[in-house]
Amino acid sequence: MAARRVVSRNIPALVSRAQAPRTVHLATRMSAPKASQALTATRRLHATAKHLSPATTTAASTATSYPTSHERIAEPVDTQNFLDNQFTSSKASQWIDLYDPATNNLVTRVPQSTDAELKAAVDSAEKAFPEWRKTSLLHRQQIMFKFVALIRENWDRLAASITLEQGKTFADARGDVLRGLQVAETACGITTQLTGELLEVSKDMETRSYKEPLGVTAAICPFNFPAMIPLWSIPLATVTGNTIVIKPSERDPGAMMILAELCEKAGFPPGVVNVVHGAAKTVDFILDEPRIKAISFVGSNKAGEYIYSRASANGKRCQANLGAKNHAAVLPDCNKNHALNAIAGAAFGAAGQRCMALSTLVLVGETKDWIPEIAKRARQLSVNGGFEPGADLGPVISPEAKTRIEAVIASAEKEGAKIVLDGRGFKPEKYPNGNWVGPTIIADVKPHMRCYVEEIFGPVLVCLNVPTIDDAISLINANEYGNGTAIFTRSGPTAARFQSEIEAGQVGINVPIPVPLPMFSFTGNKKSVAGGGASTFYGKPGINFYTQTKTVTSLWRAEDAVATKASVNMPTQS
Ligand code: NAD
Repeated sequence: MAARRVVSRNIPALVSRAQAPRTVHLATRMSAPKASQALTATRRLHATAKHLSPATTTAASTATSYPTSHERIAEPVDTQNFLDNQFTSSKASQWIDLYDPATNNLVTRVPQSTDAELKAAVDSAEKAFPEWRKTSLLHRQQIMFKFVALIRENWDRLAASITLEQGKTFADARGDVLRGLQVAETACGITTQLTGELLEVSKDMETRSYKEPLGVTAAICPFNFPAMIPLWSIPLATVTGNTIVIKPSERDPGAMMILAELCEKAGFPPGVVNVVHGAAKTVDFILDEPRIKAISFVGSNKAGEYIYSRASANGKRCQANLGAKNHAAVLPDCNKNHALNAIAGAAFGAAGQRCMALSTLVLVGETKDWIPEIAKRARQLSVNGGFEPGADLGPVISPEAKTRIEAVIASAEKEGAKIVLDGRGFKPEKYPNGNWVGPTIIADVKPHMRCYVEEIFGPVLVCLNVPTIDDAISLINANEYGNGTAIFTRSGPTAARFQSEIEAGQVGINVPIPVPLPMFSFTGNKKSVAGGGASTFYGKPGINFYTQTKTVTSLWRAEDAVATKASVNMPTQS
């Protein structure tokens, strides 16, 4: 293992460097209902695995035996490719070490799939397409039903893989799985969603439209939702008759590998779903491979803008969901208790590593004095290993992410903002080597500051003060991102005005994270999507993305109809 070239993250410095504890003290207490919810999920986890010797790695896990702790894995198993319904060991010369973010212990090594393996994945998807597209919609629907049932059966196993590799708490990881599962469940209704249109456009002439599959498609996924985001693509791509090559994030592919196993068990024929791995090299292959017709990307602006333009230049369809800076306007007339709880949960849940995390507060008028109460709630959150009972948020994904987040907090201090709650330097006793950043609240932020301009993607809430709702709307509209926004108010007319004037794709009214369920579409806006948001994920636009519309116009003249009465006479014309 040591002899191979390893593309590894720079962790030794983190492990060896003791970080001096700073000012924050995060109590492990939570409000009673929250604590009981988290405990129920964690107790179930431990109860399920009680009489088993739980598998410590994703590779060896089953629906009833999966990782339940952050213990060091004695013999980490390499992540494999999934081609033609087979898990195959990679012949890679480059490997990416994947560490448990709570401990920085090695979990697995992810291959940079070789050129031959990448090509084999597309060969397999291309070979499978002609037969797969010919299967009946009802047959594909049956496979989707089975896939859904298997995801439910393996729900905790998937969540455990996410907690181990991505770091989010087990309860939150179950939510990650659920949001993807719901896309698959909605795809089961494809028999009513894929109907075309028909119109008699002239006498005896009609035009009808069909939605046909594209061929080989691909998905490139981010680290923050290891189950949900692959499931934004797999169900709709396949149920509409396409085949797919997926590149999960090289930072946490475990959930996708379990999903691959479930695809095979559900009855997808070989080649319909394939998984390859790696970083930019794999992405470039996908971008330039002419047989791949469409690419679904979710991730940062840096990667996504490049991917969108290169994919488009190569004549491919591309849907690309990018970064965000989600604002909430808080009005003095709101239900204060609801708003403060919602804000603390949406800002710090998943350690702020959600594209819809509520990262920016716009405090209107007197609500600027509510920050200490938000800080009080934030202090009550338990920052801990995701398998620990009662953990509210886990570590951030990598030592580099931690360093970057801490640098943004430092920049705010330097630029004159006030650090009301400082999560730098926090570490839970049991996990001194993890990538910890505790909940952080920065007040008196101004729009020019780095902490406002950049997507932080950590448990950091930045707060700006404005005198009126008009100022709040102007501030939010001036921001270049437009994924989500929320307003907290009891006034219907104020909410109605906000919803119509605000320039963000997903608006919550007293709802902090307004992600639409999959019967709608994920409708980011502005810089949060590439290509002006013309192709959004799931829902009707998702089906359109994965299909080519064909129209057929036919003329069947009434006078050409064969006469219905049999002729009995001998013909008289020559
Ligand atoms: P990322 O852009 O670093 O990685 C996403 C994917 O792109 C990965 O598979 C990665 O291998 C690949 N990639 C990264 N850099 C690349 C490069 N230079 N060239 C080619 N490919 C490259 O994103 P991430 O850190 O994994 O995810 C976090 C980001 O994703 C945040 O910005 C977040 O807002 C965004 N996100 C957006 C949504 C949304 O729906 N808008 C949802 C989830 C995450």
